[in-house]
Amino acid sequence: MMATIWQVALDVPLPGPFDYSAPTPLAAQFGSEGGSEFNPIGNPIGDPIGRRVLVPWGRTQRIGLVTAVASESALAPERLRAVDRCLLDLDPLPSRWLELVRFAASYYQVGLGELALPAIPALLRSAQAYRAQKPRGGGPVERARTAWAQTAESVESARSVEPAPVPELTADQAAALESLVLDRGFRVHLLYGVTGSGKTEVYLRAIDRVLSRDPLAQALLLVPEIALTPQFVRTLQSRFPAWPPAVLHSALPEAERSSAWVAALEGRARLVVGTRLAVLAPLARCALIVVDEEHDPSYRQQEGARWSGRDLAVARGRIEQIPVVLGSATPSLETWHNAATGRYQRVDLPRRAVAQSILPAVRLIDMTRIKTAEGLAPQAVAAIEARLLRGEQSLIFLNRRGYAPVLACQSCAWVSSCPNCSVTLALHARMDSATRGWQLICHHCGHSDAVPRSCPACGEVDLAPLGRGTQRLEESIATRFPSARIVRIDRDTTRRRGSTEALLLTVRTGEVDILVGTQMMAKGHDFPRLTLVVVLGADSGLYSHDFRAPERLFATLLQVAGRAGRAEQPGEVLIQTRWPGHPLFAALRAQDYASFARGELHQREAAHLPPFAHQALLCADATAAATALEFLALAKTVLLPCESGRVVNANAIANPSANGLGLGLGLGAIRIAEPVPMPMARLAGRERAQLLLESSSRPTLQALLVRNLPALRALGSAHSKVHWHLEVDPLAI
Ligand code: ADP
Ligand code: ZN
Ligand code: ZN
Repeated sequence: MMATIWQVALDVPLPGPFDYSAPTPLAAQFGSEGGSEFNPIGNPIGDPIGRRVLVPWGRTQRIGLVTAVASESALAPERLRAVDRCLLDLDPLPSRWLELVRFAASYYQVGLGELALPAIPALLRSAQAYRAQKPRGGGPVERARTAWAQTAESVESARSVEPAPVPELTADQAAALESLVLDRGFRVHLLYGVTGSGKTEVYLRAIDRVLSRDPLAQALLLVPEIALTPQFVRTLQSRFPAWPPAVLHSALPEAERSSAWVAALEGRARLVVGTRLAVLAPLARCALIVVDEEHDPSYRQQEGARWSGRDLAVARGRIEQIPVVLGSATPSLETWHNAATGRYQRVDLPRRAVAQSILPAVRLIDMTRIKTAEGLAPQAVAAIEARLLRGEQSLIFLNRRGYAPVLACQSCAWVSSCPNCSVTLALHARMDSATRGWQLICHHCGHSDAVPRSCPACGEVDLAPLGRGTQRLEESIATRFPSARIVRIDRDTTRRRGSTEALLLTVRTGEVDILVGTQMMAKGHDFPRLTLVVVLGADSGLYSHDFRAPERLFATLLQVAGRAGRAEQPGEVLIQTRWPGHPLFAALRAQDYASFARGELHQREAAHLPPFAHQALLCADATAAATALEFLALAKTVLLPCESGRVVNANAIANPSANGLGLGLGLGAIRIAEPVPMPMARLAGRERAQLLLESSSRPTLQALLVRNLPALRALGSAHSKVHWHLEVDPLAI
């Protein structure tokens, strides 16, 4: 018999896919076209590729995904187990979707199942839910469909609300829209538009065009933050009432996630909006992908399979042969470089959309000569006062939550530090309890301690907070401006579901005078009454071991500056710094991203850093640093001998510039550095180390990884005390 072996991807820490024999009898299937009824005997499955299956795994059952069929298996027939059931309650996942996850798994060097299964909502891949032969009240898919129908209905009934008026495009927007190539297959566009230039309106028009010309087409819109989804959903709902958007992000209740996911697969949802994981949504007929704020680091998945949602969006565009729009005021240097070299097409929005709105004036406050107890320079205080008098809003940006980053002894060198990580414990005021208590919290592993009454090292009682976080800032501002209405927005004040939305609403409706916020505030929000932004604590990003730190700082500052003066009143940005002469600030004051990018790219090229080199990072952790480092040293020997002569052992180059290699590698060479402890060496009780691989050629690096992954995996199994993973295109090294 032909093709009786089904290859099944499973979310297990082994590469897979795994061979199973086809289910016998074919009767053992779940669901039918009609819905949840148990399938009658003999229902033809047809092509099983892309179907979910229930399979035995050890002594349990799991749900996997059929990725291929074969006529024979390398496994001995007696070791081959049979698929228990093929789940027919849902259409097979589209072949292009399978191609996408296959590409992603191979590019990021992770098992296909590890990447593909987590992309399926938990309810639809829980063996538990499918174990019963005949579920009551419909299976998970049935319930997801019902839930979607209800969502769509409620949107329908809310339609009585006046639909949003469609603004007339500005000349810039009209020109940008016309230069998007939306009907000729795969094209990547960089929509480079200053903050407030109206990129959203261009996305909406592009979506409208693509969905209007094909009644089955779907569009995918990616946003960097969960907090930004409600804003986009509102906009989409009022603009396109006939196309209720399906929302996908990691904080959704499972039932909602299944409902949106099934609607995307079945084409009921024409619009899909979500954070990075939505790039793996199974849209059956994806016709356009928009990635808003494409530079944002949160597009990078940092746990489990590590991948970039932005890069996968481009890969998906290529696989689906559809247009992709990447939007940003501060594109990543990788994207900027791709536009400069012609791989992406750059489309500019050089001015703000609202006619009277101009970009805010950026001023630096030299803090070297200013002593302040409360952290705000007198100029900043005066500027806030002026806003209060005029009834305008101010945002004070400090990217550090908690009361203070560290508690220190005044008499000795003791500082509060995390027992599990190589960082200090931050001091937090506990706002939840009625009695205001204090707590020391690790921002990396979550470890918390009570505040000691006296110094654990010397016994002195004068422990004091050092530095300033948003809580402390909020406190001193409340003292300074007693009549002002102040709200703090950071991860501590927005833990509850929906609380961010509620806080943002108070800002939008003008119930707030002064806003204190972290990173969360920098992105995308549109507050028409906000005319002043004061930036504190920016200096830590100026000089950093991380070569991407300036890029991130520039993006954050430009974004946060972009919150000011978005409507008619002009905005002002004050940056408190001890390095007013730093070139980054010069580019920022001129709001000149292009010149900043030019300078940075120049340095990157000279130093052979991305985007001029391609990197992979092999990360290992263990309870002892030596164990992790030894593992990486062994890994290096596994990686080294492969392509004789072409892999350069950085060790062997005593004087890199003398032998003409420099850091500049011969084309296609791979440089493997020495194993070193990670910048943050200890995390959650594990000692961490890394091994950096670099090449000027992406294919060469890819080939090396593909060829040696099995050997690395074998090495990993032989060192069970070491946890390891590979990061391709790491964001931080
Ligand atoms: P960006 O995402 O580029 O920072 P937004 O899309 O948030 O900018 O738009 C900034 C502001 O300009 C919003 O308040 C938006 O309503 C307004 N806007 C955008 N396009 C137009 C237009 N064509 N006419 C009038 N106002 C517009
Ligand atoms: Zn002490
Ligand atoms: Zn910790």
